[in-house]
Amino acid sequence: MEIVNHWLNGVSFDGESTRTAPVYDPARGVVAREVRLATTSDVDAAVRAARAAFPEWAETSLSKRQSVLFTFRELLNARKDELAAILTSEHGKVLSDALGEIARGLEVVEFATGIPHLMKGEYSENVSTGVDVYSTREPLGVVGIISPFNFPAMVPLWFFPLAIAAGNTVVLKPSEKDPSASVWMAKLFQEAGLPDGVLNVLHGDKVAVDGLLHHPDVASISFVGSTPIAKYIYETGAANGKRVQALGGAKNHMLVLPDADLDLVADSAVNAGFGSAGERCMAISVLVVVEPVADELVEKIAKRMSGLTVGDGRRGCDMGPLITREHRDRVSGYIDIAIEDGATVVVDGRGVEVNGESDGFWLGPTLIDSVPTESRVYTDEIFGPVLSIVRVPSYDAGVALINRSRYGNGTAIFTNDGGAARRFQREVQIGMVGINVPIPVPVAYYSFGGWKDSLFGDSKAYGPDGVHFFTRQKAVTRRWLDPSHGGINLGFPENR
Ligand code: NAD
Repeated sequence: MEIVNHWLNGVSFDGESTRTAPVYDPARGVVAREVRLATTSDVDAAVRAARAAFPEWAETSLSKRQSVLFTFRELLNARKDELAAILTSEHGKVLSDALGEIARGLEVVEFATGIPHLMKGEYSENVSTGVDVYSTREPLGVVGIISPFNFPAMVPLWFFPLAIAAGNTVVLKPSEKDPSASVWMAKLFQEAGLPDGVLNVLHGDKVAVDGLLHHPDVASISFVGSTPIAKYIYETGAANGKRVQALGGAKNHMLVLPDADLDLVADSAVNAGFGSAGERCMAISVLVVVEPVADELVEKIAKRMSGLTVGDGRRGCDMGPLITREHRDRVSGYIDIAIEDGATVVVDGRGVEVNGESDGFWLGPTLIDSVPTESRVYTDEIFGPVLSIVRVPSYDAGVALINRSRYGNGTAIFTNDGGAARRFQREVQIGMVGINVPIPVPVAYYSFGGWKDSLFGDSKAYGPDGVHFFTRQKAVTRRWLDPSHGGINLGFPENR
């Protein structure tokens, strides 16, 4: 059985652990390889590698760092099909979706190539007579990045290119469920000219995460995953004196007003609800439909769902499997809960016909109407191909429902009424808003992140927040002395 090893100091690293976890091919339902699970001393080895590489990398000129990033961007773009194949084999998402994930990651690499501009400080001349003040931004040191299973390439790419461009060195701990993409990208970065030890990949579970959270030489933690773990990461990292950004789970609502074009709404709902089998933090999982158009919309969505093909992502299907058997069983359990709670299952994804191996972790697209808002189908993050419909009598009732959610990641409104859309944008308590755009993931030069239980910390990912997160500001007050500055004065310095 192939073992996925750690990548430390530019070489494959076994570490001392004897523990491994299975990595599945979800479309076949078989264990494809095993991944190592680090011990605390393996964490220390990774942090030591990153710490040793830091002084030289931080001193490397901006133009040299920029040129390594440009080469990485070119290599990644040229070889994206290889990476997409790895994503599909370990995550299960279809190849076209895997390529889309890489394209969004590439945008952040492109943003990071602008680092000479992004690191510029400010300058004020003559703040007092003959005194100037200016600011610089400096890297933090060794930064830790902990990523989830659902975007094995894009989420690491949200962080490590910018962290490295800013002069930091990295220990990346990818999800143990699909760990190979991170190692592949680290090797590619080395090929692009990145010095050994600047980007290290450490595999593992809670032991590895706790090792990073408690390690005195780790300056910051960037985490993406479920809400309970994000909260734990934020609290533990902060208690250990680290800078922390912890992005959590989501339950994204799409508000449909009666004036919207229902065919376009149905297309968007299907794409945003079932792409990547619903395993996206920005997936639409609840349609909030203002009456009287719900019956018509449900019919249009169900018709489109009957044309979706489910199967092995390598065979050109629309939707792939879920990540593990346990997760598939958990998600399909929500269909039973929906029936018990009195909702109407319009399309049932259990027993779906698939273009793939029978042991794959399959669940077909599922549509549930009239979901009671007390039901766990509504309140829980399901993270699978289950789209719920909640009918409301008015715009106000729809916005109030969305604002009561504990999550605040993404939301969308579909309408042709500009006034209503503008009102929604201002009234909704959610971090990322789409107006007739169902998955409003901001481009790389804005920042990505939600509100409430979808983000712990005050920095979002990438964009301006990312630059701030991975650097700290120094303010310098300077004058060039001449004899007129002599004399003793113990008073607090005043500006004149
Ligand atoms: P997860 O929380 O189970 O795992 C995320 C990371 O935490 C992994 O690297 C994992 O190894 C580690 N981890 C797991 N259990 C841990 C524990 N007890 N202690 C310490 N570390 C632990 O999340 P997942 O299932 O891999 O990913 C899906 C979740 O991620 C969903 O909730 C989804 O909404 C969320 N997500 C959020 C965003 C966002 O931008 N807000 C983006 C992608 C995914």
